[in-house]
Amino acid sequence: MEHSLPSSLRYDFHLHSDFSDGMNTIEEMIFACLDQEITHMAITDHLSETGYFNWYNQYEKDAKKLPRYLNTINKMKLKYQGKIKIYAGAEISTDFGLRTKHYSGEEDIFSLYLDRFSIFLIEGWYISNPYRSAINLRKYLDELGYSDIPISIAHPEFTHFSHKKFSKLIKMGIGIELNESKFSGIIAQDFLRIYKQLTDIEKSQLNITIGSDAHYADGAGKLQSVHKFIDETNLKKNVILPKEIQ
Ligand SMILES: [Zn+2]
Repeated sequence: MEHSLPSSLRYDFHLHSDFSDGMNTIEEMIFACLDQEITHMAITDHLSETGYFNWYNQYEKDAKKLPRYLNTINKMKLKYQGKIKIYAGAEISTDFGLRTKHYSGEEDIFSLYLDRFSIFLIEGWYISNPYRSAINLRKYLDELGYSDIPISIAHPEFTHFSHKKFSKLIKMGIGIELNESKFSGIIAQDFLRIYKQLTDIEKSQLNITIGSDAHYADGAGKLQSVHKFIDETNLKKNVILPKEIQ
């Protein structure tokens, strides 16, 4: 079968399962990715403070949910070893404002499991202030010794990015995601507008993650528009992988 994906970029680092608002199990998402000849994938279920997937406020009632999620991913990782590389991630939704206490509180269940995460996405809607959330999370992870976990802003609204903001993110090693489900000509244009203002050094330091944002097995591993854009703009060298955990 002819394949349109560039062989070196068969990645999908934004996938939801029924642990949050996805419609399929983690294993069904893996099957779907294998079907699309994906070689590296990350499960990135929502980790919200006040949203519909509210681990933080529920953890007293269901403190086992986060370890159950991570254990399931780990089991799958071992089961499909050699066929597909699977990473544990989360998409952090800060909803309508950032409450940093949950990133540093004493009873912070999140901090107990950081050694098992390979990537964090920050919900990219402008209204949730992804810029601030990403910086705060970066500082928090760095303080706890997890500078090696990449952070990427999921489906950023580039219209709200200034060159200054973009530079700061790059300086802090915070990446941006090219997201298939939200990709459009307008997004591409907005991204290029801001990308063109970067210095050559900034351009070379820019980290990009790619993901489908699939909530159904049907969309998993399908990244045609993003791949086409990356090919056309020569951004392949900027695409990064999640942290390796043995
Ligand atoms: Zn998502």
